[in-house]
Amino acid sequence: MRPLALILFLFAAALDLSAGPTNYFCVICGKGPLTGRIWMSKWGPICDDCYKLENHCSICGLPIGKDFVKTGDGRFICKFDRPAAVLEVDGAREVFAAARRELVGLFGGGFTLNFPDVTVNLFDVDYWSEKGREDGLHKFGFAYTRKTRHGECTHEVVLLSGRLRTELAATAAHEYTHLWINENCPAEHAIGADTIEAICELSAYKLMQSRSQPEAMQKILSNPYTHGEINQLVALEKENGLAYILNWVKNGTTAALETESYALAAPLRKPVMTATNIPVPLPAGLKLAGLLLAGPSRQAVISGVSFAAGETKTVKLQNRTVQVRCREIQVDGAVLEVAGMAGPFTLKIGEEKLVP
Ligand SMILES: [Zn+2]
Ligand SMILES: [Zn+2]
Repeated sequence: MRPLALILFLFAAALDLSAGPTNYFCVICGKGPLTGRIWMSKWGPICDDCYKLENHCSICGLPIGKDFVKTGDGRFICKFDRPAAVLEVDGAREVFAAARRELVGLFGGGFTLNFPDVTVNLFDVDYWSEKGREDGLHKFGFAYTRKTRHGECTHEVVLLSGRLRTELAATAAHEYTHLWINENCPAEHAIGADTIEAICELSAYKLMQSRSQPEAMQKILSNPYTHGEINQLVALEKENGLAYILNWVKNGTTAALETESYALAAPLRKPVMTATNIPVPLPAGLKLAGLLLAGPSRQAVISGVSFAAGETKTVKLQNRTVQVRCREIQVDGAVLEVAGMAGPFTLKIGEEKLVP
């Protein structure tokens, strides 16, 4: 099977420690004190042998040693991410129920479902691939509402396994909002596809905000999925409140929310069946995956591109391409300059910085 290759990333920067033993121990095999080439990951040092291991964690990219879990479709999850990863359907149901409860708390009683039963399931990548769509691998969630002739609804949500609890909660909020729209948007109110997705992303955003997860909030804003509409909605919500947006879904007549910036011709779509197709393509910002600290050939791996000190290279990000110069490589980070940005800044291992 094809792994979630896009989620994997290299993560190394190496230190030259040929001078003698250190007090570093490999976080994967425990070997140490380490000498020679040592790789620094966000979890700590890695020996050269472990660095060469074939399999990598689908969440953080760490090479996989002996402590790991494997999803049904063959993705590996390292021992560090394992406690926060959702691998069982019961865990997914808990995450969904909590997200739902919190959203109703945030948005008010009008955000409950008239038909409250929601079947939540957890699936592996294989499930999406079997749907026969090229982009199946990138799906994080799916929401479906069946309407009977008598106007009753049955709801179903499917979530991708092996993701971190916080990320899964954001997806759960998104899918729950699809269900609410399915119930509450009258058939004659055709809403633009981007606007529907943006409203669902707004829910995810509000949930992450109330949970104080700034990184997840940034991710939602920079995701190209809604073609920028999420940013307009966040501004609109700030000004008019959520009730305004929910009321528009129920009683509005236009395809997009009425603001000056909404002059767009979005394709119309009936909101009964919806799949959340959030692509996970290029990184949103500059991310220092790791450092290779090997004497004069020290390297920093930034958003998939490796740099030696002094090198300038082009880095492809989600919405743009940026020119990055790596000024200096330190033991735990790199000093970077980005064309168009004022002054150099330091990026620590595992850190991500969004560029304007
Ligand atoms: Zn090792
Ligand atoms: Zn991991």
